[in-house]
Amino acid sequence: MRDLRDGALTQGTPPGASGGRPRHVVIIGAGPAGLTAAHRLAREGVRVTILEKRQSLGGLGGTTVFEGKHGTYRFDFGGHRFITRNAGLLQLVEELVADDLLTASRASVIRLGGRIYDYPLAIGNLLKSAPPSLLLGAARDVSAMLLGLARATPGDDFASWTEARFGPTLYRTFFEGYTAKLWGVPPTQLSADWAEQRISLVDLRDVLRRLLPGAANNPRTYARSYRYPRLGFGMIFERLAAAVEKLGGALRCGTTITGFSQSAGNITAVETTDGPVACDAVISSMPLPEMVRMTGGESSLGFRGLRFFNMPMAVENVSPWTWQYLSDPDMLATRLQEPRRRSPEMAPEGMSSLMLEIPCDPGSAMWEMEDEALFPRVQADLARLGIDPAKATGECFSVRTPYAYPLLTVGYEKQQQAAIRHLARFANLYQCGRQATFRYVFTDTAMEMGLMAAEGLLEGHDRRAEIYNHRNEKQVIEVESIA
Ligand SMILES: Cc1cc2nc3c(=O)[nH]c(=O)nc-3n(C[C@H](O)[C@H](O)[C@H](O)COP(=O)(O)OP(=O)(O)OC[C@H]3O[C@@H](n4cnc5c(N)ncnc54)[C@H](O)[C@@H]3O)c2cc1C
Repeated sequence: MRDLRDGALTQGTPPGASGGRPRHVVIIGAGPAGLTAAHRLAREGVRVTILEKRQSLGGLGGTTVFEGKHGTYRFDFGGHRFITRNAGLLQLVEELVADDLLTASRASVIRLGGRIYDYPLAIGNLLKSAPPSLLLGAARDVSAMLLGLARATPGDDFASWTEARFGPTLYRTFFEGYTAKLWGVPPTQLSADWAEQRISLVDLRDVLRRLLPGAANNPRTYARSYRYPRLGFGMIFERLAAAVEKLGGALRCGTTITGFSQSAGNITAVETTDGPVACDAVISSMPLPEMVRMTGGESSLGFRGLRFFNMPMAVENVSPWTWQYLSDPDMLATRLQEPRRRSPEMAPEGMSSLMLEIPCDPGSAMWEMEDEALFPRVQADLARLGIDPAKATGECFSVRTPYAYPLLTVGYEKQQQAAIRHLARFANLYQCGRQATFRYVFTDTAMEMGLMAAEGLLEGHDRRAEIYNHRNEKQVIEVESIA
């Protein structure tokens, strides 16, 4: 990943009206980043007002409650796991969720062409499950790598990076179609940044290296056990919001922000349809390009949206898997999740539910389609996966987010830096979190960014560059979340 510091930020007055401790901070967004920032400031006695555009809180970390014919179901925005190597953050979550925090273990598989593979891909399982043509192709690729005939240096796009690492056969089989379905653009147009940080599957070169005498095992990038609240991931943020309110913070859901008032390089008020909210500083988790446009700039940075299709099932257990990656390009969803695998209380007793993550963008036919029209298509995919569609109760509903993933196309960094430079004109504005920094980060990192923004304001020194680069490692190592 690139360093976002170079020339991106001006050396201005540190955020905070006069460089001192702010009296009133407006926080945009009641997601993980915004709520964590608000909590940190409120604990220090700073007045905070959180402005959230949705009626619900938690952002992408929220949980939706569905009252069905047979009882109450809960659905996350795609199942979430809480994993962190930050002991202080884990302690905060443990204090908030206390006895309602469960430890779950993950069981995931890849479904492709009627076959089931382990996730992450493992050599032993591949040998057992893959068709001979795939094994032959992979063996040919390994030989080419051993003989130094394979492409040695990957390019800066997802396709060449992945192909160089896994060989053309595994790339075409497992990555090409799935990636195009997930992102809505060809893998040749996607930046390798995302792959570098997130792909934790077997790497043929590493496998070969490990066969050599004295070679060390590579660190895992995949955690099998994780923390999960009894009533859904959103419980963390409901508790956090309650704690902020108990400390005197104000939370205003359903608020539409229309602009900003400014004076001498500082934001002095956030304009809303309910009137202005005066402030000394702003911590924003609003998407980076939206913030740029709202402050008079231009940005072509974009996001990939997701439609979550949620449906109760009249069966206690649909499958043993937490989630299934659906690699067949002609299936609607990229992942199929069974919320009950995370916590038994995500569905009423004796029942279960399914959640399909369907990538699509606002305005597309898939985004707009009525649930009733989509239901039979979903049932047809379930039947292909060996799930009896007749077990569906017939109830279903969709939740949509236009901001599921920052679209990291080749060369996106230039636009990202331009956006950061544009916003640096406001000395008292912190952008933090996933959408606001345009980084593919998990919940714990978004929360850490919120903490850093709050601490920057409390300490009166500028931590914006640090936030934009936070956990910008080459490879993200997942750890067991039990510190
Ligand atoms: C399918 C999926 C699965 C994931 N799984 C995991 C997982 O297993 N583990 C994990 O740790 N992370 C996971 N993540 C990532 C995680 O959801 C994010 O890292 C985290 O939610 C980011 O928090 P945030 O506060 O930065 O942003 P958000 O959660 O997006 O919160 C931003 C908030 O700001 C509000 N907002 C935006 N614009 C405005 C505006 N103009 N005015 C007012 N309010 C506004 C939004 O409504 C939202 O509430 C997953 C994400 C997705 C999409």
